[in-house]
Amino acid sequence: MGTCPLSRMSLLRDNFSGLLRLWARPEVLTCTPWGAPIIWDGTFDPDTAQQEAIQQNLTIGLTVFAVGRYLEKYLARFLETAERHFMVGQRVVYYVFTERPAAVPRLPLGPGRQLRVERVSRERRWQDVSMERMRTLHAALGGRLGREADFVFCMDVDQYFSGAFGPEALADSVAQLHAWHYHWPLPMLPYERDARSAAALASGEGDFYYHGALFGGTVEAVRGLTAHCARAQEQDRVRGLEARWHDESHLNKYFWLHKPAKVLSPEFCWSLEIGRRAEIRHPRLLWAPKEYDLVRD
Ligand code: UDP
Ligand code: MN
Repeated sequence: MGTCPLSRMSLLRDNFSGLLRLWARPEVLTCTPWGAPIIWDGTFDPDTAQQEAIQQNLTIGLTVFAVGRYLEKYLARFLETAERHFMVGQRVVYYVFTERPAAVPRLPLGPGRQLRVERVSRERRWQDVSMERMRTLHAALGGRLGREADFVFCMDVDQYFSGAFGPEALADSVAQLHAWHYHWPLPMLPYERDARSAAALASGEGDFYYHGALFGGTVEAVRGLTAHCARAQEQDRVRGLEARWHDESHLNKYFWLHKPAKVLSPEFCWSLEIGRRAEIRHPRLLWAPKEYDLVRD
């Protein structure tokens, strides 16, 4: 992978941090064709990011859904490792969405960190649990979550933190490169291709394939994203359609139409099953082993 020539020129002209990115990781793509940074280990200074965030006195929300057996299987480890690695030193509010608030583990939280539990109803199909997140998040962002937080990250629960995930990841809107697909050629990316679906991308469309397990940004930006995806999913549903990868397909359509301001390298959400890759230096979040037979009906 090289760097995109257009962005390289504009970065050389007027962007010192862009230059740093090129020097630090010449072997990977560190900017998108529209000039957004793709952050890899070594391309940012975590201490500067930390100081800047502290000066802004931010509150960062982290949402996670734990419905059905996903709660017992994944939630405790997700939260425990977030306490060690997610935005340490910042003000953080976790929002756990579940149909069984009483079963949420009571975890000792660090200073400046809170956990709120929001009750949701349990959809029968796992695909519906996954997609329904968009509507629930949109409503939450219009309520207390939206009033409390400046930035929000929305994550799957079937993963755990393994390295510092700090304010370097913050931006207006943030998308995650999918660990399995970041090096695939565009025509092979698993976008929705049925033109009747609101998630459809035509051949030649698409920048990257983003992972539905992690997205974020300002409250306003994530409200826009969740509104779009919830509306698009509903549009498909009334037509009797369901996009290939559910909410992830709609998320990919959204980010094709509204380019993310920052892209996280696969180091930020890595799967150990892929094996060793020279460019993956410091994974921050790891996929938990997929045990669908245990958690899905
Ligand atoms: N989820 C849940 N209960 C379910 C299905 C999904 O809590 O029955 C939530 C959970 O946060 C999960 C996310 O929705 O991580 C997405 O589902 P899953 O991780 O199974 O999808 P995949 O990562 O395999 O695409
Ligand atoms: Mn998942």
